[in-house]
Amino acid sequence: MPELPSAARAELEARFGAFCSFNESARNFTTYRAGGPAAALVKPADAAEFAWLAACCRRHGLPLLTLGRGSNVLVSDAGLGGVTALTERLDRLDFSGNAVKAQAGVLWDDLARLTAEKGLAGFEKTSGIPGSVGGAVRMNAGAFGQETFDRLVSVEALDPAGKIVVLPKSGLPHGYRRVGGLDGLILLAAAFKFEAGSAAALLAERDRVLAARAAKQPLDLPSAGSVFKRPPGDYASRLIDAAGLKGLRLGGAQVSARHAGFIVNAGGATAADIYGLMRKVHAEVEARTGVSLELEQLLLGEFPEND
Ligand SMILES: Cc1cc2nc3c(=O)[nH]c(=O)nc-3n(C[C@H](O)[C@H](O)[C@H](O)COP(=O)(O)OP(=O)(O)OC[C@H]3O[C@@H](n4cnc5c(N)ncnc54)[C@H](O)[C@@H]3O)c2cc1C
Repeated sequence: MPELPSAARAELEARFGAFCSFNESARNFTTYRAGGPAAALVKPADAAEFAWLAACCRRHGLPLLTLGRGSNVLVSDAGLGGVTALTERLDRLDFSGNAVKAQAGVLWDDLARLTAEKGLAGFEKTSGIPGSVGGAVRMNAGAFGQETFDRLVSVEALDPAGKIVVLPKSGLPHGYRRVGGLDGLILLAAAFKFEAGSAAALLAERDRVLAARAAKQPLDLPSAGSVFKRPPGDYASRLIDAAGLKGLRLGGAQVSARHAGFIVNAGGATAADIYGLMRKVHAEVEARTGVSLELEQLLLGEFPEND
């Protein structure tokens, strides 16, 4: 990973002070708790700071990557060059009738809980997804038949020229864990609209979903959720289990013994361990079933060519 030029480092330190760090391990900003360092990790407070950061990166010819909670990514052991920005300080939620505007760094599960508490129906089944609003929009995250785009009205983003743009949902082609039209944009906020519901019923559904997650998922170990997308008409976890791969270990990485769709960091896993296990699972499932599983998680940094 190339070092950050000293002039860029000095500018970031002067502007962000305690809200920037250098060579910080991805163990500290991804839920896999694995991977190499980010050359620079910055936490802008608002749109103006994101715009300033984007301009600074352009001036210095540095790539800028925006992450939410790092719950759907694997960072390579070589780490991330350029600047990585985290959205966690963009944490405002504004309710107005049955509409909500959520800044990108709001925890998705806070949005799911608060809307249920206010009797706004539509995200109760997505309770427990551990990402941010920005990450959920980017991935069209979802669970148990509900997904982010079901309730999305529009997205507010910073374009590559540093201008704030508002994109209606109709301009964003989307499908299962897939969204187009957002490349090169920093998502700042999203607007959602809900149906009216009974708070008690929505909170009961939320409790049911959280209990189902706790029963089925290895929440006691670091992971980034489902490794692969659901293939048409089947479940990746069923295919992996049927291939006899549950519990398979490579270094510190393991196919979860509880949920075969997850790879967990069972202790001291490197990104190479996790990536190697992803490849092995992919190859074994394809050899035994003919199904070529598609990765849901995103690989950031340098990895050997994917099959
Ligand atoms: C235990 C566990 C359970 C999970 N269960 C589910 C589930 O049920 N359903 C599901 O869909 N997912 C699930 N996930 C995966 C993950 O939580 C979701 O994909 C989530 O939406 C990712 O949000 P994030 O903020 O962590 O995004 P990150 O992982 O930080 O980023 C994901 C992508 O979005 C981009 N991005 C994030 N924020 C911005 C922004 N503001 N502007 C521009 N780009 C941005 C990043 O660059 C990256 O490309 C699970 C993960 C774990 C660990």
